[in-house]
Amino acid sequence: MSKPTQTRRGQRYLGDDNNMIVHDLERAKGSCEIDEILDESRGVRFEPDTLEQAEHERFRPCSRCIV
Ligand SMILES: [Zn+2]
Repeated sequence: MSKPTQTRRGQRYLGDDNNMIVHDLERAKGSCEIDEILDESRGVRFEPDTLEQAEHERFRPCSRCIV
């Protein structure tokens, strides 16, 4: 399942609820705009915190930080 989050702390993946893209916080680039996602309350976290779970919830992997 996914839940709104305001922080990147303690998690590996962050979903953008606006465009349904998931980012890998360990490899995210400035162009991923993670701070903007969090500031605008568009961020979701996944339980469990895996790429498979994110994709299961129809999030697409970011082409900048995942591949
Ligand atoms: Zn990204």
